[in-house]
Amino acid sequence: MSEEVHKIYEQMGIRKEVFDFGDRILGGLTERFRKIDEIAEVCQMKVLSAMQKNRVNEQCFETSTGYGYNDLGREILESVYASVFHAEDALVRAQITCGTHALALALSANTRPGDEILSPVGKPYDTLEGVIGIQPAKGSLAEYGVTYRQVDLLADGAFDYEGIRAAINERTKLVEIQRSKGYQTRPTLSVARIGELIAFIKQIKPDVICMVDNCYGEFVETMEPTDVGADLCVGSLIKNPGGGLAPSGGYIVGKKEYVEQCAYRLSAPGLGKEVGASFNVNRSLFQGLFLAPTVVAGALKGAIFAARIFEELGFFVVPDGTKERYDIIQAVTLGKPEAVLAFCRGIQAAAPVDSYVVPEPWAMPGYHSDVIMAAGAFFQGSSIELSADGPLEEPYAVYFQGGLTWYHAKVGILMALEYMLREHVTQLP
Ligand SMILES: *Cc1c(COP(=O)(O)O)cnc(C)c1O
Repeated sequence: MSEEVHKIYEQMGIRKEVFDFGDRILGGLTERFRKIDEIAEVCQMKVLSAMQKNRVNEQCFETSTGYGYNDLGREILESVYASVFHAEDALVRAQITCGTHALALALSANTRPGDEILSPVGKPYDTLEGVIGIQPAKGSLAEYGVTYRQVDLLADGAFDYEGIRAAINERTKLVEIQRSKGYQTRPTLSVARIGELIAFIKQIKPDVICMVDNCYGEFVETMEPTDVGADLCVGSLIKNPGGGLAPSGGYIVGKKEYVEQCAYRLSAPGLGKEVGASFNVNRSLFQGLFLAPTVVAGALKGAIFAARIFEELGFFVVPDGTKERYDIIQAVTLGKPEAVLAFCRGIQAAAPVDSYVVPEPWAMPGYHSDVIMAAGAFFQGSSIELSADGPLEEPYAVYFQGGLTWYHAKVGILMALEYMLREHVTQLP
């Protein structure tokens, strides 16, 4: 490594031993990084050809106001999303405020009183507990008479096929499959495994709607859940598919009849997809999608780099440094609260925005323990940007993700380590 690189990292506050340790880890990752680049290349071509096929043009970057009728950009963007996901239709809107909103929309639009939702992969993401009514919440689906059932994964992470078969009944309307582990330490599901699960479920009940919470999974593999039978696939634009340029929003892709239901729920029955002003975001949503495969590749490199570093330091990491990746989240179990604070403060200190701020734990809405979040992002809460969250509870794990560029992910991880060394919560080997 050249003198100049060492020097710039030292100026950033990273001691030489930390940089050299990182460099040694990186030496073993060449082949992994090559494979990530290959997936990004395939995904880039998928996005590019979807844009060409749908004739994206300059007019798409104009905006609409008021009702937002005939917004060409919005309509073509939705066709592009549908093409990328090989789906019949898509709803891609800035009016969908976040991933939770998109998921709540898809669930509530496609269920009616008396229907049942099944999660065959254990407890869903924290914020969905209120949406479904697993935890009592105002306006939950439970209040509307939609019930919920859950089948946990087996101890080894396998699907409990017998349990799933027994749980499906005449009221089962929709099956919610969460691809990413979220704030859990279970493994993330590969698209292939999601396909096996969907095939099993459809064989028991062909007309059940299989919906995938695709948050953090987009462009990590060359296939998406809609390629393996998912009827609906849902995610956030301030995660992977927004490429760091989407200022807000969510997407739902899948079968036309189910996407249509979502549109009627988002606006109003009778209006559906025809309305919704685009508030000048069309260009950012197109450009973000275009960059997303490369951005996701950088985030994945960061996740693997972090896994190898912290594994080497003796911490438990999920997934481990050798595992195939199916989302961009890296969980590192640090074992004590001081280590979680130091890690997150290091990530924050490496941010381009708010780097001088010291994050503190707080009771974030939707989460059941205090959470410390490091996020020096251009867009509030954007977690395709380098960010880390640590719920302050056993086993004191941090969930690390994002990085608009690989270099930023790298310096963030080294800075997290640097902060942990300063707090004496770890030692270099
Ligand atoms: C982030 C996430 C959500 C919720 O998204 P928000 O945008 O934070 O509301 C849901 N499910 C999973 C798996 C997620 O990672």
